[in-house]
Amino acid sequence: MEKKLGLYLHIPFCVKKCDYCDFLSFSADENLRQRYVEKLCNEIRERSVYVKEYCVDTIFFGGGTPSLLQVPQIQTLMDVIRESFCLKTDVEITMEANPGTVDFNKLSGMRESGINRISFGVQSFVEQELRLLGRIHTVEQSYLAVEDARRAGFDNINIDLISALPHQSLEQYAYSLKQAIYLKPQHISAYGLIIEEGTLFYDRYGKEEEKRREGIQEENSILPSEILERQIYEYTKETLGQAGYAQYEISNYAKKDCECKHNLKYWEREEYLGLGLGSSSFLGEYRFQNPVTLENYFQTDFTASVETYALDLQKLTREDAISEFMFLGLRKRKGISKQRFYQCFGIDYDRIYHKVHQRLKQEGMIAEEGDSVFLTARGIDVSNYCMGLYLL
Ligand code: SF4
Repeated sequence: MEKKLGLYLHIPFCVKKCDYCDFLSFSADENLRQRYVEKLCNEIRERSVYVKEYCVDTIFFGGGTPSLLQVPQIQTLMDVIRESFCLKTDVEITMEANPGTVDFNKLSGMRESGINRISFGVQSFVEQELRLLGRIHTVEQSYLAVEDARRAGFDNINIDLISALPHQSLEQYAYSLKQAIYLKPQHISAYGLIIEEGTLFYDRYGKEEEKRREGIQEENSILPSEILERQIYEYTKETLGQAGYAQYEISNYAKKDCECKHNLKYWEREEYLGLGLGSSSFLGEYRFQNPVTLENYFQTDFTASVETYALDLQKLTREDAISEFMFLGLRKRKGISKQRFYQCFGIDYDRIYHKVHQRLKQEGMIAEEGDSVFLTARGIDVSNYCMGLYLL
């Protein structure tokens, strides 16, 4: 059977760093962006040689802000990808976009270059919240971007929202969620904010966040309580369900047949090749990462074998692979398939996980339906605990 491959291309540039962001992203002038695109094209050509037996069925331009690229740069990247890889005719090609960096012309150019799915980092429909997050775009630009994308021919649109913001009430979040539904995208991702070290948010709210993680909720805290976070999660699930969006992963909802195929690859442990600064790959039994500084990235010889440049090159043991299969698969609403477990590892799920399964089942955290094992609503609430038990 033909081997399938996902491609992830990292575009690390942003207009400015958002206050909560810990992604590998920074601002850069046009010269540097152009140099990066040229290097990325070389990397695509050079590394494609090593995966000739694969056919690409998903491509994802992530960042950073890939929509900061000029249309000719996107076109060039797409041309080089087409020349270098075998692409499935129905390949899903997603580009992340900041609503503040696109207009109708750019979106039309993206669509013409072959991008067929667009993912807008809207985050909130409350102006005050966007300013708090340090986003460059306005609420108005989000409405316009979605409308323009549709006019440009996109019929597969995602809206990203972030909840559990400082000062945010359930009502405020509900307003954003309803506006997202009103725009009728095919897909909505609803993530809870995580305050990461090294961000401006951590400088501002880090101490409070640390206490929260220890389970100490101070009175008058501006960060959401665990109870509020749970209410937001339940509200999201219920409201999106009523609007025809099925939850297929803890934070991801889609209309019928509009799940993000690329992200599903991560949760189903399918192979992908990461291209560009700091991108991660999963090929065969190996996981590894590209260089994370621009200086090293520009100097890397991608014709050489992966061992010479990869960071964190890790050959997964069978135990690693089984553990990953479980904790990634359980993120999906439908959970894992016992049959696929057997196909992948040649042993029954029950032989390895009988005890863990019984314990979680008694605790009401896990359920079974036919061939599937999945987390219950209660299990999702404490998903880290459940997934931890599956580590071998
Ligand atoms: S646009 Fe995205 S990647 Fe860029 S700084 Fe903001 S959150 Fe980070």
